[in-house]
Amino acid sequence: MQKIICPLILLLTSASLLYPIDPNRENPTYPSKFTFERKLIFYAVLEGLFEDGVAGEALELILPDARSMTLEDAPEKTNFVYACPICMPTFDALRLYPARLPFYAQKATKYNTYGPGLSEEIMKELRGTPFQRRDAIEALINKWIQRRLDNLKITDCERDQIEKNLSAMRKKGEEMLKRFQSEKNYNGFKKYYENWKKCAACSGTSPLDRWLDE
Ligand SMILES: [Zn+2]
Repeated sequence: MQKIICPLILLLTSASLLYPIDPNRENPTYPSKFTFERKLIFYAVLEGLFEDGVAGEALELILPDARSMTLEDAPEKTNFVYACPICMPTFDALRLYPARLPFYAQKATKYNTYGPGLSEEIMKELRGTPFQRRDAIEALINKWIQRRLDNLKITDCERDQIEKNLSAMRKKGEEMLKRFQSEKNYNGFKKYYENWKKCAACSGTSPLDRWLDE
């Protein structure tokens, strides 16, 4: 699907040089395509990055060359699973975050994030083996998702439903991972994913196994 859309986007981009740009062009025709859970993950990751002040080396270890990175090129570097419904909004937030500008009222300092940066303990894990790095990413995403869920004014029942939906997304993501690991020629992904035991974003977002069998 991605491969079909990309040339179309290129075509639209070059067409926009010739024709006036429709100001509504970037609004989705079907906003409902973006589910509550998808947006929850996107905002949770973006908020977490700002709140923790992830920057520099830390960001580079989580998503190298974030602004130009594509999952198709080198999924092993991205620490995420191509086409996974949880990894995609996580990836979107990670790619957007490096485009932040310095806060306007803080010109003297040029701060562009809120938090102090990640602890040395987490940095050590991020700098470790790919397994350790993905474990650290899983823990960070878990913290960020839980923080956002805790801040939502929702009932226990509503939270259960959201967690159930996130679990269904995790299940899909894990199926994608297994598929890439078993299909030899799927975009050459097998070599990238073959040692992965789990998806960090999926396990961090939906750590509760209690929904998985439903
Ligand atoms: Zn995933």
